[in-house]
Amino acid sequence: MATKKKDIRALTKTQLRDFFVKQGDKAFRGNQVYEWLWQKAAHTFDDMTNISKETRQMLEDNFVINHIKVDTMQRSADGTVKNAVRLHDGLIVESVLIPTATRTTACVSSQVGCSLDCRFCATARLKRMRNLNPDEIYDQVVAIDNESRLYFDRPLSNIVFMGMGEPLMNYNNVIKAIDKITSEEGLGMSPKRITVSTSGVPKIIKKMADDDVKFNLAVSLHSAIDEVRTTIMPFNETFPLNDLREALEYWYAKTKRKISYEYVVWGGINDTQKDIDALVKFCKYVPSKVNIIEYNPIDDGEFQQASNEALENYIATLEKNRIVVNVRRSRGKDIDAACGQLANKS
Ligand code: SAH
Repeated sequence: MATKKKDIRALTKTQLRDFFVKQGDKAFRGNQVYEWLWQKAAHTFDDMTNISKETRQMLEDNFVINHIKVDTMQRSADGTVKNAVRLHDGLIVESVLIPTATRTTACVSSQVGCSLDCRFCATARLKRMRNLNPDEIYDQVVAIDNESRLYFDRPLSNIVFMGMGEPLMNYNNVIKAIDKITSEEGLGMSPKRITVSTSGVPKIIKKMADDDVKFNLAVSLHSAIDEVRTTIMPFNETFPLNDLREALEYWYAKTKRKISYEYVVWGGINDTQKDIDALVKFCKYVPSKVNIIEYNPIDDGEFQQASNEALENYIATLEKNRIVVNVRRSRGKDIDAACGQLANKS
């Protein structure tokens, strides 16, 4: 029986160099192949045109490149592009390209399905099947960068980890992917243009601060009152707001970087003055800003976007307290590509 071939992109550059030396070749060959695998994002060994045919065959005999495959691509009337991405084991995740006048943002997934159970999110209804590998995260970015160049004539400018999954529950692989995305041997993007969004895993937020990461942090808050937050995000019971607050204070003390709070306002859930006052108080713990996200309904109608009056009250109160607030209109709703709608529907 043939032995199982190894995923070549699980090797570090040093391991790849060592492999070639063991084969009686030059270590430098490892650098060349590494460049093909990452910077040039080769899909097959045959793409590696400056490598001899025999060497390519030898690689083929020993390794696989588990490159993702964009299965279907949908384009929204507003220009948003959604990719359904097939992984080497047949599972599917989604990623989204969001164009604006000045930037193109890639919204990428970190897990197949999600381990959390936010009641308003379509992805939460999918079981978490597995974590994505670093190369599977990297490939999503490369695919969107290519689409950005093709459709909008410019490279990708920003990345948000706001697709499927909870990035901090797959921290090691997310960090490895970001290392490749920011490295000169990968895409050479600035970490300042990358935002990792989390529902708030206090221990990992502290670890990120200790690791001195250079990307931005967004927290999906949605309520600053424990009882309310636990009803809509049940895992808040395990990681209550006080623990989150403490982790965010630790993050700010170490990184000196502002936090963004993602916030949806729903009628009858978090639209009272008490909810607003609690948010204002929470925002004062560490320098932060609030992104109010429009609610994207997911079938059952249990949650409804709050009235304009409630929204305006939020905005006015935050501004009065000198807290920066942006209102984010949803993009790509017609193709189920907006926040919380990623559920492998087509
Ligand atoms: N698990 C991470 C990454 C997912 S990001 C996190 O929670 O941050 C997806 C963002 O969209 C989160 O801010 C999430 O709270 C929000 N979201 C989920 N469902 C939504 C919906 N139906 N409408 C609008 N925003 C939603």
